[in-house]
Amino acid sequence: MQLLSVVIPVYCEEAALPSLFHRLTTVLGELEDLALEVVLVDDGSTDRSWEMIQAQHAVDERFVGLRLSRNFGHQIALTAGLDHARGDAVVVMDADLQDPPEVVIELVEQWRRGHAVVYGRRRSRAGEGWFKRVTARGFYRIMQRISPSPTPLDVGDFYLLDRRALAQLRVMRERHRYLRGMVFWLGYSRAEVVYDRHARHAGSTKFDLGRMLRFAMDGALSSSSAPLTMASYVGMASALLGLFLGLWAVWEKLTDPSAVIGWASTVVIVLFLGGVQLATIGLLGLYVGRIYDEAKRRPLYLLDQVIGGSVSDVALEE
Ligand code: UDP
Ligand code: MG
Repeated sequence: MQLLSVVIPVYCEEAALPSLFHRLTTVLGELEDLALEVVLVDDGSTDRSWEMIQAQHAVDERFVGLRLSRNFGHQIALTAGLDHARGDAVVVMDADLQDPPEVVIELVEQWRRGHAVVYGRRRSRAGEGWFKRVTARGFYRIMQRISPSPTPLDVGDFYLLDRRALAQLRVMRERHRYLRGMVFWLGYSRAEVVYDRHARHAGSTKFDLGRMLRFAMDGALSSSSAPLTMASYVGMASALLGLFLGLWAVWEKLTDPSAVIGWASTVVIVLFLGGVQLATIGLLGLYVGRIYDEAKRRPLYLLDQVIGGSVSDVALEE
């Protein structure tokens, strides 16, 4: 029997976990010809999430748990789960039931038709404010423009990977991770399933504005070096502008010897070029900082505890 792994990052989700367990068991129970493994990654929760995961494992061994040594963030928690998933296919989803488990059945269907990567594409996002909707929409559109690999719009961390795609993704150990971008980079045969994103079932979002900005930055800088190219275009454009202004100043001097060329234009040019240079150096700094982070070669995450690690080997037997 083939095994389906479902990887779910959990950070202080005690309010959402009971219905998550319930929905997963009932909905995924419909997949009769697939064995199931749910890998819950506790990303350093400070509430009762880990105890609840342990309790769930005690009643249903298909639920296994990894506890990271501290909060490493959503993308790293997902990575830890993907590293430990043993399925023939693995689905990634959130703990808050915003991505409905029913859609997983459709993802699996597409996988069975032979697609290596199947992603859920949001048609709508319920329960999220206009600010999140507008910024998310803008973000995905910019990402599509600057990313060299084909990037579908409105796709979050809700997708299915077959074993081969997963193996390749595991090899990519970069530190600033934007997993969905990495998944798009993989290529292979892909399919999409359109769905409506629900409101959060319980609890509140773990992404405040600062976290969202950092995440957007990681996405843009890790998927593309287009910002560097743009910076050099801006640099070239301003150099050209400076050249024309200089020619104009010379022309004024030659045609009208009495003209006093005001210091204003000089100051404007100096400030403008200074600004462009600082911005460009800052941008370079962002990339250099990332090189430094990579050069340290630290492990991406540390595990504190694992429960049910080898149990699903039993479930794997025909
Ligand atoms: N999450 C995590 N570590 C974090 C923040 C969030 O593992 O540091 C998990 C969280 O428990 C949830 C998923 O990542 O399962 C998505 O988070 P959330 O629903 O808060 O994000 P949103 O849907 O609002 O973008
Ligand atoms: Mg959510």
